[in-house]
Amino acid sequence: MSQLDDRLAGIPPTERVLLLSHCLRPSQTCPGKLAKRGLVCPESCTEDCVPGRLRRAALALGYKGVCIASGGSMAIKFVAEQSPRGIVAVACNKELNEGIEAVLGLATESEERPVIVVVPLTRDGCVDTEVDEAQALAAIGLGCSGANPCP
Ligand code: SF4
Repeated sequence: MSQLDDRLAGIPPTERVLLLSHCLRPSQTCPGKLAKRGLVCPESCTEDCVPGRLRRAALALGYKGVCIASGGSMAIKFVAEQSPRGIVAVACNKELNEGIEAVLGLATESEERPVIVVVPLTRDGCVDTEVDEAQALAAIGLGCSGANPCP
């Protein structure tokens, strides 16, 4: 485990958010609609997709929010609204690098900077991208695995 993983593991899920890039959704079949706070998955959606599974996993652990964002600025706005102590971010390297800079810049001198654990895409390209789902689930569940209850 990296130092950042260790730090995230000590933050309760209720103080964490999950950021997912909307390019992970299945572009041909996804019925989700983009709104101000990211892609909204309708309850009627029966697609068993990666972003849907990651979103459900985070919410089941008690995450304070999940944003399936169409871009870095939407994700940054979501983080500014939620003020999480911990962030798991799944996105392409370019967005991650830009987003991390911006998120860290949100914290004022008196505020603790959020801990950000990043999971890069394994297949990039803006549409129908891919991530190592097991790696993403492990990041989301840091501190909550096995017999250990979440902090
Ligand atoms: S669960 Fe997946 S396919 Fe369904 S709306 Fe959400 S992202 Fe789209």
